[in-house]
Amino acid sequence: MNFRSPIKHCRECGTAVVYRLPDDGDTRERAVCPACHTVHYENPLNVVGTVPVWGEQVLLCKRNIEPRKGKWTLPAGFMELGETTAEGAARETDEEAGAQIQMLDLFTVMNVVRVGQVHLYYRATLLSDRFNPGYETQEARLYHEADIPWDELAFRTVRETLLCFFADRRRGRFELHTLDIG
Ligand SMILES: [Zn+2]
Repeated sequence: MNFRSPIKHCRECGTAVVYRLPDDGDTRERAVCPACHTVHYENPLNVVGTVPVWGEQVLLCKRNIEPRKGKWTLPAGFMELGETTAEGAARETDEEAGAQIQMLDLFTVMNVVRVGQVHLYYRATLLSDRFNPGYETQEARLYHEADIPWDELAFRTVRETLLCFFADRRRGRFELHTLDIG
């Protein structure tokens, strides 16, 4: 989940692009092709995931890929074209943990402006405590709140989502949280 590198070549004709204000009155610099004049727009990407729960425990995955290889995360990844946010979150949970879940409500929406991403996490109920992690995951296991490896979490949005989850659970009421991550 890194910031994307700048566009280098035109998607239409392959010519090296230049970043400049387009000629149509746009007020942001865009990657403009000097040959065919195509303007390439870059917009935030959605990262979708789940907080999978088994009784008192939450499922975390130890990452087997960069960035943050070896750190723990909730199952999450980039949303694909042709799927809803909930479908993407369920797909990532299956791919990264091989976990069977029942999806619940949207739980956190986090703007990570610095890297041009929006992260969305759904709560989910695990239907089994048997997991079958894919290649992206070294290990998938359940954690009680007291054992969460807070210093070994892969991403700030995972930390914030887990903090919201345990706080809401203590209150006995889950609600949607919207956060801006600096
Ligand atoms: Zn071009």
